[in-house]
Amino acid sequence: MKNQTSSSSDATLSAYEVAVNKLGLKKNLANALNIPDRELTVEVPFRKDNGEIDSLIGYRVQHNNSRGPFKGGIRYHHHVDINEVRSLASLMTWKTSLLDIPYGGGKGGICFDPSNYSITEIERISRKFFRAIDPIIGSNKDIPAPDVNTNAQVMSWFMDEYSEINGYTPSIVTGKPLELGGSEGREAATGRGTAIITREAAKSWEIDLTKSKVIIQGFGNVGSYAAKFLNEYGCKIIGVSDINGAIFDNDGIDVESLLLHQEHHKTIKGFNSYELISNDELLTKKCDFLIPAALGSAINSGNVDKINCKIIVEAANGPVTGNAATSLWRRKIPIIPDILTNAGGVTVSYFEWVQNLQQFKWTESEVNIKLESKMVDAYKCVYDMKFEKNIPMRIAAFMVAIDRVSNAFKLRFG
Ligand code: NAD
Repeated sequence: MKNQTSSSSDATLSAYEVAVNKLGLKKNLANALNIPDRELTVEVPFRKDNGEIDSLIGYRVQHNNSRGPFKGGIRYHHHVDINEVRSLASLMTWKTSLLDIPYGGGKGGICFDPSNYSITEIERISRKFFRAIDPIIGSNKDIPAPDVNTNAQVMSWFMDEYSEINGYTPSIVTGKPLELGGSEGREAATGRGTAIITREAAKSWEIDLTKSKVIIQGFGNVGSYAAKFLNEYGCKIIGVSDINGAIFDNDGIDVESLLLHQEHHKTIKGFNSYELISNDELLTKKCDFLIPAALGSAINSGNVDKINCKIIVEAANGPVTGNAATSLWRRKIPIIPDILTNAGGVTVSYFEWVQNLQQFKWTESEVNIKLESKMVDAYKCVYDMKFEKNIPMRIAAFMVAIDRVSNAFKLRFG
């Protein structure tokens, strides 16, 4: 996964500034809400498999906890730095607020490329990092989760490290395996949420979903589940891509078979003897919904004029740059923003935490019903705000989110 710093931080910052102006927030309050509550930088010394001592740098940024404990993932990537983590932490504050789940925003990471390390080294690094950030972590303080290059196994090590000292505490992290208190429905949640939001947008813009054509960039966790659920809703998936290239069929791709192919081969390449086209070409094909679900800045000033869809649904974080968004607004192509579209993951993370605190397990269908309701409510708030003020969906989403955080902040501190 490539570095997403510039696109996501630019888009977040400019949406934040426009939204606070439209809300009429006083400058001091707007500044206070933008400044992170706490930033921790830690050294992560560890022993390599060859016996040598090495050392990495890790971060945990706690942006705002006015509405609940800090919440956000921990990523392992050689591009991780304090600016990236700070920007992503603030995005989590707005995302959790928008979904109206009782959390604030946080993010963390370690600057290294895990593909250069053995699994035993990654375990030692993970445990050392979690011990280093332990003073600011807690089930009611700050609850980490997986992010780029971290997964259920890493969460298990985090939970174990914390539980060794504090007693069995599954609620300390989310995104755990089912065996350790993970939630049913978590794996599919972000793709399912993306499909739900696409379906709601189809209603608002009066597009018949069963006659609609969809293109999805990225066929990993988010893109593949989005394709599965949109296919079940009756959409025609006409194009998908991954890092190896794209396949396109204007009559619709057989999604069920493609999912099986992906499961076996871990790529869409080689599916049903489709010729691969380039990702750049796929993005410019005519469709109703274009869903970038791979990486930041996929739609930028270089390709925005060639985009030929009715609606863009941002499943990845920051896939449309600020300049491209302005140009799409002029062309009346709506963008359904990332903080709404891909919030299904953190919403089911919240459900996992609730189940852990209650020491009670919900069925998959209970989780999915609750997710549906949260996504639809959030969509409605954003669309109503957009409609009332005639503003882009991204600005509307930030206005809804910032308004809730600022009200809580004022009640607690004002
Ligand atoms: P993933 O690693 O499972 O999948 C990424 C997919 O993108 C893969 O199919 C990969 O081949 C493809 N890809 C990479 N480079 C590409 C390129 N240049 N062109 C086309 N495809 C390319 O990741 P994911 O979990 O599906 O996440 C996708 C995006 O969604 C990321 O931006 C992530 O931050 C965001 N997101 C994910 C979640 C989640 O719960 N997984 C939650 C919120 C946001």
